[in-house]
Amino acid sequence: MSKQLLEKLVENNQLSHAYYLEGGAGEATAIWLATKILCCGNGEPCITCTRILHHTHPDVMVVRPNGIAIKVDQIREIHGKAAFKSSEGKGQVFIISNADVMNLQAANAFLTFLEEPKAGVTIILTGTSRSSLIETIRSRVQIIELPERQGFMKEAVNKGLKFKSLGIFEELNISVAQAEEIADVADKWVDSIKHTFELTCNRALQSVQVWKEIYTDKTQRQYCIRLIQSYVKALFSTKKGAFQNWGNLPVYSWEELTVWGEAVDELTRAFHSNGQFNLHIEHFIKKTMK
Ligand SMILES: [Zn+2]
Repeated sequence: MSKQLLEKLVENNQLSHAYYLEGGAGEATAIWLATKILCCGNGEPCITCTRILHHTHPDVMVVRPNGIAIKVDQIREIHGKAAFKSSEGKGQVFIISNADVMNLQAANAFLTFLEEPKAGVTIILTGTSRSSLIETIRSRVQIIELPERQGFMKEAVNKGLKFKSLGIFEELNISVAQAEEIADVADKWVDSIKHTFELTCNRALQSVQVWKEIYTDKTQRQYCIRLIQSYVKALFSTKKGAFQNWGNLPVYSWEELTVWGEAVDELTRAFHSNGQFNLHIEHFIKKTMK
């Protein structure tokens, strides 16, 4: 769906209660949508839009991951704010940036918020892959695919970053600074995942024994989980014959892909709920591979 179409929905008052903006410049688009929803039309640009763009509007709240995840306290804050009327009377917009990393507790708290839509409240989630949302959330939001983010590659190349898997990490919506931090290990991570999932189940289980040493801290393990999400997303794209950044991947049946999709959901939930790593990866492999 294009921006123009979204704009039309706002004009005609046909906007849904909750959206998931997938890929591309999610947060920037969400902020833009907030200006379309709340614009007071006084001046060009108007005072409302100016405040939204400067993150000082009282009716627009942006939540971003606190550390590696979005936590339940942050969702409770949204609940609290939504309990009050909008300050300026035109409604409230809650933006959850990178909702892919909501931990399970946060996701459950958020679900109650989604299930009881309040008049005048618009919720906009952003993220890179709908497969990282739990099904009960995914089925209650309207998903909009955004065009790919501009500029990241250009900036990365200007900084001399040109590792093979850069395109995959671009899809994860990381910043160029984050890309710089992982430049030395990124290809190794991607290769190890790809290589492992091309093995038989038993050999894959042996292969992941060393992942603890490849992904040494929590942040790196978080990257690993996100890469696995990206890999599964790429399996779906491969099946559809669409371009994806992972190169040649096996073509599975839709039935098998459903299993991969469910397994990656479960892996994400399990990892965010208790941070255990190898155990959940092993479980994932046993579920998906023969
Ligand atoms: Zn305006």
